[in-house]
Amino acid sequence: MTTIFKFGGASIKDAEAIRHLGELLNRLETRPRTIVISAMGKTTNALEALLAAARHGDESDYRHQLEALRRDHLATVESLFGASGGSVAERVETLLEELDECHRQHRGDDRPHHYDQTICYGELLSTTIVSAWLNEIGVDNDWYDARQLIVTDANHQAANVDWAKTSQRLKTLEGEPLVVTQGFIGGTADGDSTTLGREGSDFSAAIIAHCLGASEVVIWKDVPGLFNADPRRFDNARQLMQISYHEAIELAWLGAKVIHPKTLAPLRERQIPLKVRSFKALDAPHSVISARGDDDAMPACILAEEQVLLEIQPRDFSFMDEARQLDALGRLVDAGLHANLIDSSAMRLSLCLDAHPERLEPLVESLDADYALTRHDDLTLLSVRHPTQALLDSLSKGRAHLVERRNREVAQRLFHSNDCPETWHIPD
Ligand code: ASP
Ligand code: MG
Repeated sequence: MTTIFKFGGASIKDAEAIRHLGELLNRLETRPRTIVISAMGKTTNALEALLAAARHGDESDYRHQLEALRRDHLATVESLFGASGGSVAERVETLLEELDECHRQHRGDDRPHHYDQTICYGELLSTTIVSAWLNEIGVDNDWYDARQLIVTDANHQAANVDWAKTSQRLKTLEGEPLVVTQGFIGGTADGDSTTLGREGSDFSAAIIAHCLGASEVVIWKDVPGLFNADPRRFDNARQLMQISYHEAIELAWLGAKVIHPKTLAPLRERQIPLKVRSFKALDAPHSVISARGDDDAMPACILAEEQVLLEIQPRDFSFMDEARQLDALGRLVDAGLHANLIDSSAMRLSLCLDAHPERLEPLVESLDADYALTRHDDLTLLSVRHPTQALLDSLSKGRAHLVERRNREVAQRLFHSNDCPETWHIPD
């Protein structure tokens, strides 16, 4: 049985969480082959803020932020290892000096390249600490640099995997005892750091499982599995115990924050099941994604908040024809954005997007230069998979929607966030 585990940021957010992870591994009957780990807590966001400070901020702001990262990671080391943590603390210090050096070196590069050379330190830091801690408590493991295992092209921030080279590199791990490595990051054949896209650690676990021919992947989360709606926003969300790869991809695509959408394809190809389990409740029944789809037909509701609607029209009262759609969508792709809803009519293309200022503003500027552009902010997109009219009516009761898009499998409605409830309820 070759099992790959993935632990996200929440499961290693501080010393207490890391201790808990160690206890969990010690309580399990079988150990995994490889453990893939994200950056601690919200470190990746902090590194993105540091990047902005390095590129546009003043030096003291940059220093201040770097120091905060150093303080947080060293505090975790101190709390875990106490006086015996000297060598781990040294490695953490070395990584932070490298990070500082990388910022100096890459400040003038284009942003995606600078991003990848520096954002990867979140995972390098977290795995250094967790690997050392596991060795300390008797869970013997070796630390590996994923930038040397996951080989990608140089499409920075959304690097594409070179499967043949990655397989070759991963084969060298065969026979190794427990491997601890980073999620989210890879490297080009020339040794440049790359990243796979935000929240990409799930994908890393799937890449490794695929290449090693693993028997299963387990993603450990703070919820006991997959649900047909976000349990924090819906008071009656139900757990999906068994869904197919296909259904899981559809849900992830609609924005269900369960697993990174790219995770499923490499697993499906080798028929490797993916389990989603709670690191808080080991005995809680968990969800499985595999070829079996017992719960595939259950209606599911996905909320995407902080949405922006862009309505794009030609300036000269002509058609928003395919050529113009291609042009507008090409600009979207160039901006590295994904539309959560696309709708069109004779003279209009409507796009609903995450309010991601750094990427959105340049797109808005570019479209505004050539089209008549209308923009609506502060919106919430509700997507319902396997909708019935009654379900949709009940969920939208009392709320007017700005846009609706429907096909046989999915209905989407866009609302003003002000009109939306704090807690939603799925009617029976
Ligand atoms: N640390 C990365 C992120 O926050 C990758 C991950 O957590 O999966 O996006
Ligand atoms: Mg994550």
